[in-house]
Order: sequence, then structure tokens, then C-alpha cells
Amino acid sequence: MVDILPENTPLWQSMEDAALEVLSSYGYSEIRLPIIESTELFARSIGEVTDIVEKEMYTFADRNDESMTLRPEGTAGCVRAVVQHNLAVTPQRLWYMGPMFRYERPQKGRQRQFHQLGVEAFGVATPDQDAELIALCRQLWCRLGVDDALQLEINTIGSAADRARYREALVDYLSLRRDQLDEDSQRRLETNPLRILDSKNPDTQSVLDEAPLLQDYVDADAQADFDQLLDYLGALNIPYAVNPRLVRGLDYYNKTVFEWTTGHLGAQSTVCGGGRYDTLVETFGGKATPAAGFAIGLERLTLLMQALDITVSTPADLYVITAGETAFRHSLPRLDALRRQYPELDIIQHLGGGSFKSQFKRADKSGAAWALVYGDAEVAAQQVTLKPLRADAEQRTIADEELDAFVAGYLAEAQGA
Ligand code: ATP
Ligand code: MG
Repeated sequence: MVDILPENTPLWQSMEDAALEVLSSYGYSEIRLPIIESTELFARSIGEVTDIVEKEMYTFADRNDESMTLRPEGTAGCVRAVVQHNLAVTPQRLWYMGPMFRYERPQKGRQRQFHQLGVEAFGVATPDQDAELIALCRQLWCRLGVDDALQLEINTIGSAADRARYREALVDYLSLRRDQLDEDSQRRLETNPLRILDSKNPDTQSVLDEAPLLQDYVDADAQADFDQLLDYLGALNIPYAVNPRLVRGLDYYNKTVFEWTTGHLGAQSTVCGGGRYDTLVETFGGKATPAAGFAIGLERLTLLMQALDITVSTPADLYVITAGETAFRHSLPRLDALRRQYPELDIIQHLGGGSFKSQFKRADKSGAAWALVYGDAEVAAQQVTLKPLRADAEQRTIADEELDAFVAGYLAEAQGA
């Protein structure tokens, strides 16, 4: 489990703010979901023989001996909530953000507790919905300055029936070449053969070169929707690569699947993954409702921002220095009024006393733009001294009443900059 430290939270907050802005601009509403759900919920939706359910879940028996699981992803819980609260009206656009848990080998971009932003849209079966989701992603990438570093990979995996037919053909083909497969893929040949397609093992990949293609098993309806989606992406000027081996690791997907990948993060290259899951609502006992969604791995997105040297710093505006007890007391109502009048102004007051010299040292270190100084002389004369800490400006001493005008001017300038 990983702590997100104060030096990194500004980056997280700017990412979250941008996401919230983009999501509301498309009419998506937030839904807040529990972190623990019954184990069966995940097994049933994600699939018994997926990596997640087989070996990655944090599962425990609660005091009543019911099997519970820390959510490894958000779609299952979201669909449960949609069914439970009759939210599957058309269209229903939802998002959620929060921690997910998977028992994995921790490494860069892979943690046991990590965070996802999930976006789910219910009720629309046509590829205009898929296009909207992908366009929304791109808007977010642009706002964060990472759009040049992310590529869209996309595929259609057809219906469950299409995949069942393809699965047979693939198993026939691979069974004859079983000894050329890596150990993991040999095991998957029995359990989840489609996952072999995205094996990272180069030998396995070369065996796959001649393998039957999923494309050839996808029915005309799914293919037509896919072509329509690609046409919309063209209209949106979103570059994409059709990756015929992209299948995604969760059982509930059908038709469109996509991933946004980057070359900047090494092996953990997928920042966002999603697709259509038209049968999941029904699986959970709801009325048949088409749906599509995606999840962004927020750690990987912040790592990408860092790799691109995108920095966010939020230094204070004012650092307040006071000469002693009397000056401190004198400053209190003045700062209180200032905070009330300018909620956007960041004021750090020096606490714990100390010499002017040591207070100025702290002021410098804080990164604040100006020091606000109440010395004995200032207090006696109802004045305040303003010393620039970063700005190229003159130090000045002004009357208390003039502080308001100074702050207003400072904020106007800061907003203009
Ligand atoms: P991977 O192939 O990297 O294991 P996945 O297919 O398991 O990814 P999804 O279940 O589709 O991933 O989750 C969506 C996104 O969540 C991923 O693309 C990734 O950015 C992020 N993610 C998944 N697992 C982790 C993890 N253990 N640590 C950090 N981020 C993760
Ligand atoms: Mg995984």
C-alpha cells in the first residue's frame, strides 16, 4: 500500500479537478460506491478464470462468515447499484473515483491499493456512446497536457457467441503448438484461451502470428458498429490503432474494447482501459440494458504527468510575520477579516514565535509571494509592511486600510498572469 505524500497531492488534485470539470461538461454524475462488496459479485461479473478473480482479490470472511472482497475494480459495484436503485434509465451517465485493491507484485505503476476513475454509461447500444467515452478521455488528456503521450488502441471482440466459436478455433490451433507456449499460456489454454492473445512473451506472440483472427468470427452487426465507431473517431480527429489482439482481461466485455497506452511508463503502459458490456446489467438481475465504460489508472496518469515534467505547485500568497505577543494579537482580527473577504487568498501565518530572522527564513522557504510584517512600529502606527519574497517589487509600508486595495490588486495581477 502506498501513501500519497503532500508533495504529490497538488498533482493529484489538479488531475481530479480537471476530471471533474470534463465529466460535468459531458453530463456525467458522480456515484459513490462501497469499497467492500460480496465476493460473489466480482466472481460472477469479472469471471472466475480471470487474473483478478483467480489470484488478485483481497477476500476475507466477515464475522458472519460471509465472504467479502475489497473491490478490485468499480464496474461490478456500479452495475449492482444501478440495478438495485433502478438507475438503468436511458441514458444514465455515471462516474466514480477511489481506491481499488489487487494482490499483485508491487512495482512502478502497479500497486496493491491503487486508484481508478471509472466512467460508466447505461442505456445506449449504438457506437455514438463509445465515441463519446473516447472523446471524453481525449478531452481529459488535453486538459492535463498528456494527449501527445497517449495512443488509442481499439478492437471489437464481438458477442459471447462469436467469442465461443473463435475460442474453439484458437484452442484447436494452439493445442497443436502447446509446447511452444509459455507456462502461463499453457494453463490458459484450458481456462481462458483468449487471454493468451495479450501474452507479453515474444515466443508465444510469434506462435500467434499464424493463429486464426478474432475478426473473422465477429458477426456483421458488431463489425458494422465498429466501422461506425472508427468513422466517428475520424470525424473527431482521434488517431487510433486497431489492435486485433486486444481482448482485455475481464469477461464482461463485448464488441468495442479499447486501451490508451503510453511509451513513457515501461511495462505498465496502459493508463486507461474500457469497452462495452451489454449483458452485465441483465446478469445482475436488471432489465437488459446496453452499457459501456472505462477506467483510468490514476497512479499511472500521475506517473505520466511526472514523466512529462508537468508540475503543479500551490505556494501561498502571503506569509505573516509578527514581532511578538502584542503584534500577533493585533494581527488576528485583521487576517481573519482578510480571509473572510478573499476566500481564494492563501495566507500562512507564522506560529510559535521566534526572531524576525528565523521567521523570514521560514517565509522564504514557504514559497509565498509576499511577507506581511507586523512589527512593533507597524502596530503602533496601524500600518503593515509588505516585503516581496519572489516578485520583483519594492518593499513598502502601508496603512491598515490600504491592505485591502493591495490584496485586490495582487489577486487581479495573479489571475492575469
Ligand atoms: P494490467 O494489464 O496493467 O494489469 P488490467 O487489465 O488489469 O491492467 P484494468 O482492470 O483494465 O487493468 O484496470 C484499468 C486501469 O487501472 C489499468 O489500465 C491501469 O491503468 C490501472 N491499474 C490496474 N491494476 C493496477 C494496479 N495494480 N496498480 C496500479 N494501476 C492499476
Ligand atoms: Mg491486471
